[in-house]
Amino acid sequence: MASVIHILPQSLVSKIAAGEVVQRPASVVKELLENSLDAGASKAVVGVREGGKSFIQVVDDGCGMGEEDARTAFTRHATSKISSYSDLESIRTLGFRGEALFSITAVSQVELKTRTTVDEMGTIMRIEGGELKEISKVAMQPGTTVTVKNLFYNVPARRNFLKSTLSEFKHISDAVQRIALSRNELGLTFVSNDEKVLDVKPETMEERFKSVYGDRFVDSLIRFQEDSDLMRIHGYSSKPDFARKTRVDQFLFLNRRFIVNRALSHAVFSAYEHLLEKGSFPFFALFLEIDPRRVDVNVHPSKLEVKFDDERSVYRFVHAAVRKALGAHDLVPSVAMKDSTATEPDVGLQFVRPSKSFLPGRDAAEADATLASLFGDFKSRTDEARIDRDETPPLTDDIEPIRKTTRPPEEGREAEVEERVRPLVLQLHRKYIVTQIPSGLMIIDQHVAHERVLYERILASFEDDLPHPQQLLFPQTLLLTPADYSLVRELLPHLQRMGFDVKLFGKNTVVVEGVPADVRVGREERILQEVLDLFKEQEHEAKLDARETLAKSFSCRAAVKAGDQLHESEIRALIRQLVATQMPYVCPHGRPIMIRVSTDELDKRFGRT
Ligand code: ADP
Ligand code: MG
Repeated sequence: MASVIHILPQSLVSKIAAGEVVQRPASVVKELLENSLDAGASKAVVGVREGGKSFIQVVDDGCGMGEEDARTAFTRHATSKISSYSDLESIRTLGFRGEALFSITAVSQVELKTRTTVDEMGTIMRIEGGELKEISKVAMQPGTTVTVKNLFYNVPARRNFLKSTLSEFKHISDAVQRIALSRNELGLTFVSNDEKVLDVKPETMEERFKSVYGDRFVDSLIRFQEDSDLMRIHGYSSKPDFARKTRVDQFLFLNRRFIVNRALSHAVFSAYEHLLEKGSFPFFALFLEIDPRRVDVNVHPSKLEVKFDDERSVYRFVHAAVRKALGAHDLVPSVAMKDSTATEPDVGLQFVRPSKSFLPGRDAAEADATLASLFGDFKSRTDEARIDRDETPPLTDDIEPIRKTTRPPEEGREAEVEERVRPLVLQLHRKYIVTQIPSGLMIIDQHVAHERVLYERILASFEDDLPHPQQLLFPQTLLLTPADYSLVRELLPHLQRMGFDVKLFGKNTVVVEGVPADVRVGREERILQEVLDLFKEQEHEAKLDARETLAKSFSCRAAVKAGDQLHESEIRALIRQLVATQMPYVCPHGRPIMIRVSTDELDKRFGRT
């Protein structure tokens, strides 16, 4: 039989390889701009025509190339950025594969002009379909200009697949925007068909965001920042009420490289939990700095995807940072009336926009201040404080937690807040807690509030705390269905961390010797089965990890219910514990925990204005 396998000609190989790097005009813009950045440029000008289909040009003032380097630059795997395998493990430049110029020149008509500072003259080259057609000297400023004409002129199939000029322009504009946001120290001009689309000078990060998005939008963002030994993140995210309907405005930058990473996007998104309406997405721009040895950027030809050596811890870090920043803002919904003449109060919930405008670098102390403003800070409001003290007895008695908790009481913040908690509390219809705050009154749903407290406590127990089960006087033997039995077996390590002291006995039988300390008296017997049932229900709905689903199930089942009578000390403990949570505004399932009725609203209702 005649042989059927043969080696492809080089010209065809080039075109195939090029297809991986150059998918559309925007890929060319991205690669050329990345080269300018790697060359240390302080200014770059991008010009395109017809959505880049006929013309793309990038001019930079970077280090440039000597003639020898310029000749090599557009051959495959030619790079000045790495030279050994070990370099590949700690990449600090945007490029490193030596494929961009090769790929671009293989599928277009390119003119490359470049000059280093040490050379008097620059080099100009014309390359078509990968072949050097012309080379000579030219007078020019140091730097590099790459002009790309008629992209895919020699790959008709590709050319036909290009989208409309508008759509290709949009892709280019996105690519330019990403570079603009990630490099505030770069002066950047973007011209499309002789029209200036963007023109920014080197500026601070905040100024850069304002140049791109406008002052008002940026003022509405929450800034976050978090450092650890392993990584550092900072950036912006939107308050829930400024969320968008699409995911387009979500930027992840890893060591200043724009990346796409579903897990990290999810980490940010889920930090909002249920603060967002269904179908809306937060704006965010997140900059993650991490030791380059801990990430692999060499997993995709366009270098968009990366692999972390420890994705879970990066996920948690990002999630926690955004969560903390959000939690530090006043997101309490308030009951407001449409206008003062309306007869029916508008009981629809709306998120209050904090009156305080965006301040960069809010820290934990400010978070406490926010909480203090929610729950009243006597010291800073002397008049009110005096009246309050007169009306209600001072808070002197030691507060008993809802149920004796096994965790040591959180020091500092919780104690401080306790001091500020208003004396006035009352339970309404065994369902709601009403408490006075400086701006009016706060109504708290006791069940969801407790749910939030337990939920965070369980999650914490997965992280670090040792479980302290309350041992049952009479261990219970439970006969489970075979499915539940294997579920318990699967979840056993998690259940134990939560504080369930459960032994597998075989034959679908388990023995419960202890339950988490938070389980209320009288509910010990049913709690495990209830948690399992809810777990199964929720597992179908959401693709959360098992621990999160367990935490949700447990907190829902173990929390006080509507109808449970609470002692005053329990109410106070609940408020105090709630305030110490990371997200006191919504329960793990998304229901609001508290709403506020301001004295202004009351004044309006009573015609006191
Ligand atoms: P990579 O960026 O992965 O190294 P490229 O094909 O994009 O590969 O570029 C090849 C080489 O050409 C680079 O390593 C660099 O040395 C040089 N080069 C490309 N663009 C520029 C530029 N704008 N200024 C200076 N040198 C450049
Ligand atoms: Mg490159």
